[in-house]
Amino acid sequence: MPGARDSKSAELFMVFNVAIVGSGPAGFYAAEALLCSGIPVRVDMFDRLPVPFGLVRYGVAPDHQKLKAVTAVFERIADNPHFSFVGNLDIGREVQVSQLQAAYHGVVLATGAIGDRSLDIAGEDLPGSVSATELVGWYNGHPDFRDKSFDFSHPTAVVIGNGNVALDVCRILSKSVDELRRSDICEHALDELAASNITDVVLIGRRGPVQAKFTAKELRELGELDEVQPVVDPAELQLDPASIDEIQRSAAAARNLEILRGFAHRLETATKRRRIHFRFLLAPYSIEGTRTVEQVNFERLRLSGQTGNQGGTPSGQYVSIPTNLVVRSVGYRGISIPGVPFDERSATIVQQKGRVIDRDGNAVRGLYVAGWIKRGPNGIVGTNRACAIETIELVLADLIATSFESSDLRRELFLATLRGRSLKLIDFQGWRRIDALERADGAAKAKPREKLTRVSAMLKASERALIRSGSDI
Ligand code: NAP
Repeated sequence: MPGARDSKSAELFMVFNVAIVGSGPAGFYAAEALLCSGIPVRVDMFDRLPVPFGLVRYGVAPDHQKLKAVTAVFERIADNPHFSFVGNLDIGREVQVSQLQAAYHGVVLATGAIGDRSLDIAGEDLPGSVSATELVGWYNGHPDFRDKSFDFSHPTAVVIGNGNVALDVCRILSKSVDELRRSDICEHALDELAASNITDVVLIGRRGPVQAKFTAKELRELGELDEVQPVVDPAELQLDPASIDEIQRSAAAARNLEILRGFAHRLETATKRRRIHFRFLLAPYSIEGTRTVEQVNFERLRLSGQTGNQGGTPSGQYVSIPTNLVVRSVGYRGISIPGVPFDERSATIVQQKGRVIDRDGNAVRGLYVAGWIKRGPNGIVGTNRACAIETIELVLADLIATSFESSDLRRELFLATLRGRSLKLIDFQGWRRIDALERADGAAKAKPREKLTRVSAMLKASERALIRSGSDI
């Protein structure tokens, strides 16, 4: 069948067009895997915001600049001539996923997990009860949270959750302004934190120290801050037999315990202006207040269950902590996208190894998923690389196996339609102008950058690079 072989090799020489929705780590690692595959692919990456990098820009803590250095890798990926960025376009609202499916040979959804899990307790919606997503978004200058306000007038703040995000929040609430000034924390947040009355941050875990999800490096950092005294009651570190087993099996848990024991043995020093208190086995029960939060109530738990799978059993004893500020840091939650199969329980898109799966259990042709919206909000930035590679292997296999009628026409028609609408789209050059401006503003204050925090300001800064008819996109 020489004819069939010829037509197959002709297909291999066509350029495959792939759309990626979301420009965070999973989106960029997916782009890298496509562009380095050796198969001719053009990647158009879409983001709701005018600026790229998702959680690296808006989730990673402002004082963790080393973690943000990964953006240099993403910038190099964006330099590829077959890569384009289309910022300030909300897929699911301004353009439907089905329109992308019609215009591209493949669509990869990498939208992350931008919502937050709730506690489902009374008083959770009182003013003063905030999610870590809101607080982190605010101090990191996310336009959605820029105008939130937080009450730092009470001496005690309570942070619920024992993950790395909770540690980030504790650190930012308790670091000195001089320490924060060198980070890329936004000016509006620095001003508010400079006037903070907080002296005590109470970090609450519903299980024990051995079951905490935070990692040793981040925990150790809390013991190295200029103005902060970590406080642990040694009685909180007493372990039940199953936790002793767990320590033997998990080096990470053993390291955490060792650090916490070190904190417990530290003498309180009068030079430290603030304290971070580690409390364990307290399950949030209710949040009370007349107009705003006045106190949080917890039920004391006892650990029960098998080694490696211990849960908390109520003890009937209660503990209350007076405060005006409760930060709920109990995990992110994925948000559904119109027209895409979504599992509400896990808050992820229904998928198998990255292929989106419909109600009948069949793969949806040309639709894929990567990152937190695929596997849930866990792992570090680099975890998304392996996750994206797994997805892109399937994308490439499907592209090669499928016959397509035409290569570029559908994409070009789609982009022409976009250009014809009154949308203000930003390309990567536009981002580079924003980036240059932010770095210059930051340099004047000896900071890595001073972020633009409003979409209108971003659009203005990138003005000459707004995508217009005639540009590449
Ligand atoms: P996480 O690691 O999943 O931690 C969530 C915490 O919330 C757990 O301690 C969990 O306790 C607790 N929790 C859940 N529901 C609760 C409830 N109803 N009441 C009380 N506590 C509850 O989530 P995360 O901190 O948001 O972090 C997300 C991911 O980003 C993680 O993989 C994290 O390591 C990563 N991250 C990394 C860094 C870094 O590398 N520096 C910084 C930030 C985030 P249970 O264990 O009992 O469920």
